Amino acid sequence: MSSPASHQELLKKYAEAIVRVGLNLRKGQRLIIHNATARGVPFAARPLVHEVTKAAYAAGARYVEVIWGDEETHRIRLKNAPADSFDEYPKFYVNAVLDMIGNGDAVLSIYANDPDAYLGLDAERVAVMQKTHLQNYASISAEISRNAINWCVVASVAPAWAAKVFPDLAPEEAEAKLWEAIFETTRINQPDPIAAWQEHIQNMKRRSAYLQAKKYTGLHYKGAGTDFTLGLPRGHKWISAQSLAENGVIFTANMPTEEVFTLPDRHRAEGTVAATFPLSYGGALIEDFSVTFENGRIVKVNAKKNETILQKLVDTDEGSRRLGEVALVPASSPIAKRGHLFYNTLFDENASCHIAIGRAYRFTLTGGEELTDEEFISAGGNVSLSHVDFMIGSPQMDIDGIREDGAREPVMRQGEWAFDV
Ligand code: ZN
Ligand code: ZN
Repeated sequence: MSSPASHQELLKKYAEAIVRVGLNLRKGQRLIIHNATARGVPFAARPLVHEVTKAAYAAGARYVEVIWGDEETHRIRLKNAPADSFDEYPKFYVNAVLDMIGNGDAVLSIYANDPDAYLGLDAERVAVMQKTHLQNYASISAEISRNAINWCVVASVAPAWAAKVFPDLAPEEAEAKLWEAIFETTRINQPDPIAAWQEHIQNMKRRSAYLQAKKYTGLHYKGAGTDFTLGLPRGHKWISAQSLAENGVIFTANMPTEEVFTLPDRHRAEGTVAATFPLSYGGALIEDFSVTFENGRIVKVNAKKNETILQKLVDTDEGSRRLGEVALVPASSPIAKRGHLFYNTLFDENASCHIAIGRAYRFTLTGGEELTDEEFISAGGNVSLSHVDFMIGSPQMDIDGIREDGAREPVMRQGEWAFDV
């Protein structure tokens, strides 16, 4: 019998997996660690940042930079700054990240945020601040969206986040429980996490290769409250776990990751799709909602709670009325099995089949990286300031693939894969 690994040992293994599997950091590469939501990594993530920094130098990193952020400062600003000042933005932040990307360096984003950071504050101020951020951050999103460099998104426990996920537990217990959830869903609690990741990546690759070979022209979804068809554009690429960056590095962009995804055709979506999980967006929880499409465009939203926020999100720009991602995740995924919301997309999107309104990833269309916005749009790709995933899968969901000749074949049945690989 072996003693359970200590928290510090697990944190070290996690950092190694982030550097070796997530970023696949190359010898001599530089690394920047940041967090777009808080304009810098919240201090709660310090222990993980330190382990990642050590693991990066052990892997041969030439230089590691961290941009630190603090949500409380943003809260103080929202309460106290002049009403007309929320279009201010720290250009140095975007410039620092762009400078590293331009140099071919690796980018790590660590989530450690308070999901309710802006709850109860002036919604108009929050909206202007968020929109200003999205507009300025668009230059980074564009680089990430075409995989200019090896990048990765992971999470660290933060007290406010743990309290949100486990409201009935004492603070220390909640944090321990959230770490347990992170270590389990990122396979860090397994004897050899790196080997476990390699096996997982191979399994996911077989799923995406199967779907790629099928060249479906669309998918049809049927479930409780859902009768919905979306188109898949010619040249769509099914992606899972690993990607190849323009700087030549094969990396794993999300830890955890359970999704096989591509881009839908922004011009083709019909019917109503019901969300199966609440959506945490802009510091609020949008609950029991559905979205209705005609000719690819959202024509109606319905929500029992926070419908105004959902409507605002859809109204961001023309692209936020259309779809930019379609992802398949079995209802039995390790994240779904935990049976609770994480209030964070990195985890929640891996609990269920989902679609995203807003921007499509250029790398999900063959040759998409080289197209102008207009060319990308006419090929079926979507362009928007926003990209927001919401969960639509459930153990009741059936999904068919639609072939070129119109025939349908099962892709998922009762929330699970309907084909062997
Ligand atoms: Zn996704
Ligand atoms: Zn997404």
